[in-house]
Amino acid sequence: MKKYNFNAGPSILPREVIEATAAACLDFEGSGLSLMEISHRAKNFQPVMDEAVALFKELLEIPEGYSVLFLGGGASLEFCMVPYNFLEKKAAYLNTGVWATKAQKEAKLFGEVVEVASSKDKNFTYIPKNFDIPTDADYLHITSNNTIYGTELRKDLDSPIPVIADMSSDIFSRPIDVSKYGMIYGGAQKNLSMAGVTFVIVKEDLLGKVSRPIPTMLDYRTHVKKGSMFNTPPVVPIYCALQNLKWIKSQGGTQAMAERAQQRAEIIYSEIDRNKLFVGTAEEDSRSLMNLTFVLKEEYQELQDEFLAFATGKGMVGIKGHRDVGGFRASCYNAMTIEGCQALVDCMKEFEAQH
Ligand SMILES: *Cc1c(COP(=O)(O)O)cnc(C)c1O
Repeated sequence: MKKYNFNAGPSILPREVIEATAAACLDFEGSGLSLMEISHRAKNFQPVMDEAVALFKELLEIPEGYSVLFLGGGASLEFCMVPYNFLEKKAAYLNTGVWATKAQKEAKLFGEVVEVASSKDKNFTYIPKNFDIPTDADYLHITSNNTIYGTELRKDLDSPIPVIADMSSDIFSRPIDVSKYGMIYGGAQKNLSMAGVTFVIVKEDLLGKVSRPIPTMLDYRTHVKKGSMFNTPPVVPIYCALQNLKWIKSQGGTQAMAERAQQRAEIIYSEIDRNKLFVGTAEEDSRSLMNLTFVLKEEYQELQDEFLAFATGKGMVGIKGHRDVGGFRASCYNAMTIEGCQALVDCMKEFEAQH
């Protein structure tokens, strides 16, 4: 049976990306060695790093003055590296969920944190609007897509202070105006690569402004200076990211990814809204195009396990909602096909007809 991978992360990747990475793990570019057993300083690996950085810059139209880094530690380590490197006195945080809260918690270790707005009052079902950004804060931290709650900002904020964004789960799903950000980061395992690498896009002239000493590995300047090769980088996930960047380019780039995301979301959200059994959890103007969350209506709650088993039996993988939201979550990253979305919708229709 064909499987449709709706996992929230690690998640779906294009088949050709997986195949190219698997092939390099067996024989890296005809060298007779595996990608897993070569030095990151080998002559044939440097071009992989260089090309990945170049494609990042090309696909996101990153302006001059920004560096692209590939690091370890996941988005979670960035939660502490961000304040370590940028928080001198005070930082502003927008609280849109668990990840945003975790980022904020780390910042409190380094200085004053102002929460500019929070959607905690309604279990993070919306993105707060019209909040004030304190002009005396060092930066504003946002989470552009809230993987757990299915909410997404999906636009680039205008801010009087540098914006630092966790884009773990929506990077490369739309064109972004990088010049509006001081830094963008994320774990690769949602929409870029397999698990094991973290991407960082950082504006160089914001670095080196805090007075505290920073441990070498946690100082972005180390990695800018050494081209992400200060220590051994995760070569396989970087290679996999490169294959995916090539795939994105071959499909028409971020604009094409945005159009597909829109199409996928339309197919699934319109069924959620039409189907008598289900209801979406996020407020309509905050709905994510990446993680589509929905629950059974009050009167059909007892069908929870039954629908999950039904959908799983039809090849749907990973649609169980996060425990903080319940219900279901269909994660539709770049590699998710229209056919996959249609298969899920057919499932929902068929289940409705039975009840
Ligand atoms: C998954 C996720 C994280 C955590 O990423 P790790 O790489 O596991 O640390 C952080 N932020 C968001 C928005 C996520 O979706």
